[in-house]
Amino acid sequence: MIAIEEAQRLILKHTAVLTTEEVPLLQGVGRVIARDAHAPWDIPMSDNSAMDGYAFSALPPQNGQWVVADFIPAGAQRTIPVAPGEAVKIMTGAPIPPGCDTVAPIEEVERTAEGIRLTSGLKPGSHIRRRGEDVRADDLVIAAGSLLRPQEVGMLVSLGKTSVEVVRKTRVAILATGDELLEAGATPHAGRIINSNSYSLAAQVLEAGGEPLLIGIAADTDSATREKIREGLQADMLITTGGVSVGDRDYVKESIQELGGRLLFWKVNMKPGKPVAFALLDGKPVFALPGNPVAAMVGFEMFVRPAMLRMMGHSRIFRPVVRAVLAEEAKNRGDRPHLVRVRVTLRHGVYSASTTDSQSSANLASLTQGNGLLNLAPNTSIAAGSTAEVVVLDRGFEMGSIAGDNLAAVE
Ligand code: AMP
Ligand code: MG
Repeated sequence: MIAIEEAQRLILKHTAVLTTEEVPLLQGVGRVIARDAHAPWDIPMSDNSAMDGYAFSALPPQNGQWVVADFIPAGAQRTIPVAPGEAVKIMTGAPIPPGCDTVAPIEEVERTAEGIRLTSGLKPGSHIRRRGEDVRADDLVIAAGSLLRPQEVGMLVSLGKTSVEVVRKTRVAILATGDELLEAGATPHAGRIINSNSYSLAAQVLEAGGEPLLIGIAADTDSATREKIREGLQADMLITTGGVSVGDRDYVKESIQELGGRLLFWKVNMKPGKPVAFALLDGKPVFALPGNPVAAMVGFEMFVRPAMLRMMGHSRIFRPVVRAVLAEEAKNRGDRPHLVRVRVTLRHGVYSASTTDSQSSANLASLTQGNGLLNLAPNTSIAAGSTAEVVVLDRGFEMGSIAGDNLAAVE
């Protein structure tokens, strides 16, 4: 039995970044950019007006009025110099014509019979966006390894691109095991339960930015288990759930080994989720997660997700940790670290954590009611009102001004 951190270290040591692919920009959102992007040109390409207004040479004419000589709408350009004492009406973004060094916003100008006059003082050089002030030609604008977010999409489009080279998504095969399992949509009856794990795990894969591949249920025989495991090797990684404990019909671990897999660990010192195995089979990571629904999801969180993210080129692969005030005493009487499911809330900048009801690894409700994990060391207790580190699984709640909904704030 090894420690959680040791298991994570072993896993990451045996997972490598996947190959890259060129995709249309919008298909790359949320993925890691594989190549540096340099600017082919200055942005903006020329000095241009930051306002709708009038451009002119700031040297004031004798009577303090400029004669309006031309109009430059967005998209147009004037190459003929503007004479001293003349102004041109100009729209936001239009290039500043030669002879002009200042723009007066339309709101600060008064029209007169002769032309225009300023209604307030104006510094020479005002309201002009300079050539290259955003990006200069040849600049390294986006470095390889950056996350492609909406702002990077906009920047790359401005650099003339329509596609981007990104790291491939991790394709993850998901195999359930167990004669008691029924397909999703079935009506359960005594002795049979619905295969929910394949779906919760697939959702976790999706949420991590990967591509789940549901390959069904393996019956509790060694041949069926082997055959299905082999099928899963078409993906970049395989997750199995169930059949990895010490039961008479737990065939997953043996099947991996019979197929030539190299078992790197089995059993991690944690609760829930102790019977978890990690192996390399045909060079691919195989995670054998427990069957209990909470143990399977927690195992995914602790071991599969970091590996997937690393394979997709991410460098932030662990969830954020916050210090939260405990709403009630948390106690671990056991001899294994306990990943207690908690509900984290944020109020006036302070995180609080409250344990969810049942902490049984079979009760999925402990996770549906929660959004965080508190790693409680063996034989310890933390008093209500003290703080503890909590791993935040879902930060959606932070968008609220108080814990929970924030729609009311605008109603
Ligand atoms: P096992 O490790 O195979 O003995 O499974 C442990 C527990 O998890 C049993 O109660 C199983 O019925 C349950 N279980 C196993 N696989 C699944 C699954 N795919 N979906 C939901 N529950 C499962
Ligand atoms: Mg089973």
